[in-house]
This record gives sequence, C-alpha cells and structure tokens, in this order.
Amino acid sequence: MEEKLFLYNSLSRKKEKFEPVNPPYVGMYVCGPTVYGDAHLGHARPAVTFDLLFRYLLHLGYKVRYVRNITDVGHLENDADSGEDKIAKKAKIEQLEPMEIAQFYINRYHREMQKLNVLDPSIEPHASGHIIEQIELIKVILEKGYAYESNGSVYFDVEKYNKNYNYGKLSGRVLDDLYCNTRELDGQSEKRNSFDFALWKKASPEHIMRWSSPWSDGFPGWHLECSAMGHKYLGEKFDIHGGGMDLLFPHHECELAQNTVAIGEETVKYWVHNNMITINGQKMGKSLGNFITLEEMFSGSNKILERPYSPMTIRFFILQAHYRSTLDFSNEALQAAEKGLTRLLKGYEVLSKLNPDNESSVDAETIMSKCYDAINDDLNSPIVISYLFDAIKIINSVACGNEKIDRKNLDTLKDIFNIFLFNILGIKNDSSDSQENSEVLKNVLAMVLELRSQAKANKDYATSDLIRNELSKLGITIKDKKDGCEWEIN
Ligand code: ZN
Repeated sequence: MEEKLFLYNSLSRKKEKFEPVNPPYVGMYVCGPTVYGDAHLGHARPAVTFDLLFRYLLHLGYKVRYVRNITDVGHLENDADSGEDKIAKKAKIEQLEPMEIAQFYINRYHREMQKLNVLDPSIEPHASGHIIEQIELIKVILEKGYAYESNGSVYFDVEKYNKNYNYGKLSGRVLDDLYCNTRELDGQSEKRNSFDFALWKKASPEHIMRWSSPWSDGFPGWHLECSAMGHKYLGEKFDIHGGGMDLLFPHHECELAQNTVAIGEETVKYWVHNNMITINGQKMGKSLGNFITLEEMFSGSNKILERPYSPMTIRFFILQAHYRSTLDFSNEALQAAEKGLTRLLKGYEVLSKLNPDNESSVDAETIMSKCYDAINDDLNSPIVISYLFDAIKIINSVACGNEKIDRKNLDTLKDIFNIFLFNILGIKNDSSDSQENSEVLKNVLAMVLELRSQAKANKDYATSDLIRNELSKLGITIKDKKDGCEWEIN
C-alpha cells in the first residue's frame, strides 16, 4: 500500500503524511453525541466528515477500529464544571430515568445516521459503562501528582501540568491569558485555579446519576471519558482523534493533558477537527431560533425550510465544502446541492447505458488519478466532486457523439463513480427505492389516464383538461396520440 494520504493535524497545524502507528491497523476515536436531544445539523457534519475518513481508510486497505463514543453522563450544562448534567436535567423534565432519555436519543441518532448513510463505528462505548476505567485513570493522575482532591471532588492541576508540559499546545490558548479571563468568573473555591477541570465531581444530594468512588459518591468529569475509553479500546498510542472544532478547547486540550500525564507521552498522533456550520450566516443555536434537527430537515417541518431536503442532499451538501472550511446552510445552497447531485446521478445513468467504441478520445485514467490526488490532499472532497462534474461533461459529449470512448476508458469512468461517489463519498443512489415508487406511480397514472380517456369519450372535456392541468402542475406532461397518450415526468 503506497501511503499518499496527507491529513491536517491540529496539533502541528500543518498537513502531515499519514503513517499509522501500527499498520495495517488504524485506531480512530471520534467524540460522539451527548444524548439529551435530537440530532441536528451540528451532528451531521462531524458524522459525515469522519465517515468520509473512515471510508477512505477502509478503501486504502487499512483495518480500522473506529470508536465513536456516546456521552450519557458528566456533560454539564455550561461545558465546564458547573450546572446540571444535561441528561439528568432532561430526565427530570420528562420524568424519566436518565438512561431512558439516553436510549431514546441514541436510537433516534442511529436512525438519522443511517439515513445519512454514515457507517456504524466498530465500537460505540458509553461513558456510563466505563466508570471503573475512569476512576482508575483518576487514581493514576493523582499518583503522578497532577490532580488534587477537594471536598470530595478531584481536579486536574493545570498550573502544575503547565510547568512540565505545555497546556494549550493543541488549542493555541495561553495559560497566562486564561488567568485574566477566568479569575473573576470563578466562584468555585474548591478549585485552586478556575481553569482546573474536574476529573471527579461529588454529587449534590439531588443529583441522580452517581457512583461510589474513593473520594465521594459522584460522577466523572466530561473530559475524562474519552481518555479512558480511547486507552481501553485503542491502546496507549493511537492514530486519529477527531471531533468538531468546538471540542478543541476545553475538551480535547484537557484530554491531551490527562493522556500525557497518565501515559507519560502523547497518546494521539493526528488530531483532526471539522469546522462548524452556520445557518444563513449565523451560528446555529436554540436561542437564535435557527436550530434545525435532521428530522425536520428531512421532513421540511421547520419554518426556516422552504421544503424538505433528502438525507443524500444534506450529505452531498456537507461534502461540497472542505471539512476545515465553514459551511453555511441556506435554502438556496441546499437546492443548488440537490440539483448538482441529481446531475451526477443522472450522468451516471447515462454512463451505464453508453456503448464502447473501438477508439477513445477520452482519458479516464487521468480523471481517476486527479480524484485520488484530491482525496489524498487532506480529504478534499469538493475538488473530487468537481472532477466528477468534469466526468459528467465528458459522458454527455460521448452520449451526443461528440467524443468517443473505448471499453477500457468506459470501465475506468464507471470505476471512478463507484469508488468516489458511491464508496468514498458515500452517496447512495436511491434508484432501487425510486424504482419501487415508480411502479406504483405507473399504475396510479395508468388509472388516472384511463379516467381521462373515459371523460373524453363522454365529451366531458372540462374533466379531461382538469386532469391534464393538474398533472402538469405535478410535473407530469401528457402527450395525446392517436392510440391513447404518453406521459413524461419532467
Ligand atoms: Zn470526547
């Protein structure tokens, strides 16, 4: 296997040649959802981004162990160490067990991921199922002297860590700045410094999700779960750790610090982060009233949406931007993506019907290698897509007779679509569904047209015109012929 893939490493802030720690095995850990609400657009982007990476690594022949966790405990409301547990809060409102809430949203998350054709991870560990591992990790960090106990809680000593290591090396934050920014906000006297983060929190009496530990009845800090589960399933040193850019700080910075103390060296070789999405130029947020869940996206049931958008339109739209660029959702942009995807899929249909010639004016091999160059260049999916559009132009010229293609180049063109569009970009051609639908549609249309010809036979032209006009509104054109009529979907 020739290694040509370059990935942007958030740690070194440059593209690096991808060389696994232990080839042909690749360990990839991606921070999954905190399951207290429906999956939304903000979940779709990392899911699709790391699905693209997962699919490409598999295509390259690696044996990938892809771990995507479920956060079902310890993620407090304000992402720091205060506020209620997000899941426990929802459970209280709904009067359900916290694990009922978690399971309900896990099931729904899986359903939406399937619609987006996101492959299942190899392991999907839950934070609540790894409390023992987290407690053990805290013990190690305490033993090494980088944590302290305070009133039944355990905090990571960031100041001490920064003396021997570099706190902020991943996110670019400087500890000195954090002193100024956070000191005044600090109301938590348990901590030595406001930027220290919880490894274990003592539970207040009303807190439902709690476990016993050497320090108190309580629960683990949010950042700890990914360190514990990453080590457990991928070992002390593994290849890729991913997530959205919003996780860079504090989540991943804290994770890196925990790992470094526990293992004595860095655990993760490549830190990969996808950029965020905006909606009509604004950050998405419940308070801004522009929050769209995936379910609403697919059904169109949100006032921001002019109409529903299929999961494949959403997937294609996400892939049309490079994962490190921001991505702005708007009806206009989604409709453009939908058109583009239809053009690609229609072009593929034309391609599958082309007959080879003896000679070829088409050089498909060059397009193939350009696609590989683009995907190897830090997963540049928009460039891959632009080459697929180039291929469509060629296919259409061949279909019109303006270009000639031989068997070899024809097969290569088909390979390009199968490898890149369907396999790596993970676009599903829903033609099997639509074939079933079109069977039903054909029968219904036959019935409607029969009613129309009866109306005509009875000289009821008002009804026959009404049927024709109504069908036309639905995009179905009827052409009258001597022996009946033909129909066409526009
Ligand atoms: Zn995480």
